[in-house]
Amino acid sequence: MFRKIEHIGIAVKNLDAANAMFGALSQLGLLKTEEVETEGVRTSFFKLGETKIEFLEATNSESPIAKFIEKHGEGIHHIAFDVEDVEAEKQRLQDAGFEFISTEIKKGADNKLICFLHPRSVNRVLVELCQENL
Ligand code: ZN
Repeated sequence: MFRKIEHIGIAVKNLDAANAMFGALSQLGLLKTEEVETEGVRTSFFKLGETKIEFLEATNSESPIAKFIEKHGEGIHHIAFDVEDVEAEKQRLQDAGFEFISTEIKKGADNKLICFLHPRSVNRVLVELCQENL
């Protein structure tokens, strides 16, 4: 069962510019920035109540974010739902016929264990499952 929207991910060309823009827009302070080398992204987070906004910038041209921006331009990239047990949720959804981009559970930004459903299973929305990695 999904518990909350953990964050909304937005693909951007320039992370520093996006951070400045969102700070001015929201009057929120930047929570943190973090590079996830394995995914080829630099990320930043702003916290609003129980939910965060994540900005993602590609660090190389093979990055999924670089490919997304090439295809769609900047904008909303994914919605991440918080789950208690990502392995159990992945199994439940696979059993229900949902497709995953990769069934490998990875370590994502913000100390999370994550995996992504394929957008074709979810009305073309990229869905991330994430579990707090305690
Ligand atoms: Zn995310």
